[in-house]
Amino acid sequence: MSTKYIFVTGGVVSSLGKGLTAASIGQLLESRGIPIAMLKFDPYLNIDPGTMNPFQHGEVYVTDDGAETDLDLGHYYRYTHSPLSRLSNATTGQIYDAVIKRERRGDYLGKTVQVIPHVTDEIKARILACAQQEPTPQVVLVEIGGTVGDIESLPFLEAIRQFRYEHSKDCINIHLTFVPYLKAAGELKTKPTQYSAQVLRSIGIIPDILLCRCEQALSEEIKDKISLFCNVPREGVFDEQDVACSIYEVPMQLHRQGLDDMVCKLLHLQGKEPDLSHWEKMLKNILHPQGKVVIGVVGKYMDHQDAYKSVLEALHHGAIAAGVSIEIRRFESDRNADMSGCDGYLVPGGFGGRGWEGKLAIAKHCRTHNIPYLGLCLGMQVMIVEFARNVLGLELAHSTEVDLNTPDPIISMLSEQKNIQNLGGTMRLGAYPCELKPGTLAAEVYGKRLISERHRHRYEFNNSYKKAMEDKGMVFSGTLEHGNLCEIAEIPSHPWMLGVQFHPEFKSRPFDPHPLFRDFIQTCLNLKKGKSWGALPQSITV
Ligand code: GLN
Repeated sequence: MSTKYIFVTGGVVSSLGKGLTAASIGQLLESRGIPIAMLKFDPYLNIDPGTMNPFQHGEVYVTDDGAETDLDLGHYYRYTHSPLSRLSNATTGQIYDAVIKRERRGDYLGKTVQVIPHVTDEIKARILACAQQEPTPQVVLVEIGGTVGDIESLPFLEAIRQFRYEHSKDCINIHLTFVPYLKAAGELKTKPTQYSAQVLRSIGIIPDILLCRCEQALSEEIKDKISLFCNVPREGVFDEQDVACSIYEVPMQLHRQGLDDMVCKLLHLQGKEPDLSHWEKMLKNILHPQGKVVIGVVGKYMDHQDAYKSVLEALHHGAIAAGVSIEIRRFESDRNADMSGCDGYLVPGGFGGRGWEGKLAIAKHCRTHNIPYLGLCLGMQVMIVEFARNVLGLELAHSTEVDLNTPDPIISMLSEQKNIQNLGGTMRLGAYPCELKPGTLAAEVYGKRLISERHRHRYEFNNSYKKAMEDKGMVFSGTLEHGNLCEIAEIPSHPWMLGVQFHPEFKSRPFDPHPLFRDFIQTCLNLKKGKSWGALPQSITV
């Protein structure tokens, strides 16, 4: 059977949850035993989001092969088992880069190099490359970033139009649009949806399915109207109402309306009966929590919804596993704030010097008051600097990322990183094997000796301080296999204080939480009962 393709576009406004919707469709197909692969196109000129500020872009999601990718790949991971690698995300920058490199090599043999056909050919080649991955997918879901009508997404839309023309029996187009409710008029408005379908038609794309984001369910009358005006069969018009409680409700919501039946019918896919039992079980835990845990996240980009997407999701997964709800309190580490009263604290990854003081303060407070602490990447570096300063008495110990002249560079750059001039894609990136020390918290939590986790950082623990730190009670419980880089640090005399140099949050799923997050949350809950921790000072002075 030939590979099938589903193209997902978005109209009217951004932030409709296109990535989440595409991932939900992927999940529904998998529940029928249909193997899928997902691909995201991003219409911006950066080669990848790795050099972008989190305020601009949100989280950078890292794959095993070290690609720095769009955060939608995080949704793909959490909802599906799609292979994820550098084949799963391409930007306009990458597409043009490939075409221009070929032009410089003289591969175009004197031809004029143009958006059509050269850029569109490159886009189509990426779609085919995604289909040729192992294990072989039966369906490739291709999400086009941006909103229909943007100048920069035009080459992608033209490419998928051509692709469908060339593989007409194997493709469908799903368009996600918005049906706003106008309070003053007391009405749902279909005109923006009509316009965006019209823009697509003018490019030669007629959607097979329209998914209408809305606050209230659409009446039959409204669906009839949308169907007629947008030239989409009535049974292809679905609503995607705002979910009440959790983003993990979306697949079930679409399934209940028969979306996956419709997709299978249009693509002549023969899967088994959908089995959504693990998804339903997980949703039951979310919708009927038995208790609550409060976690403080102390970071630098807390005001930005998406900057710590995977971290926040992984915390939710830990709470789902424990059968409780979670309140996540976000603290900006460079602002005075009362951070007291949480059951545990997490310090996520970050770059640069801003906000270190607040993070050091929370690490110290957790260490001295037996409050659970989980440090991710920078969060581990913070935990180590705090320990060096306040336990070893090295008052000026620091990371050379912040203080190049510190007398105690306890976190410093690897020599191979020192001569790097280009910033993009030059960190220690992707999956590395890590060996765990038997008898440690890390070994107990993971339940195995060898693990693989993903990295994205430039600085490392400086091993010349290892012995001094161990003498004072810190244990380096994870080390790079066949190497001596410190990957995990913990304090055995503390109930749960652990930092990792990698990013476990990238490998957590709602029905299969990452062991570190699961154990961290469970410990916070266990300790909560008998807690007698001192409150934090009213404000942290930075
Ligand atoms: N800035 C630190 C480094 O480069 C930590 C990076 C991170 O937290 N992802 O090592």
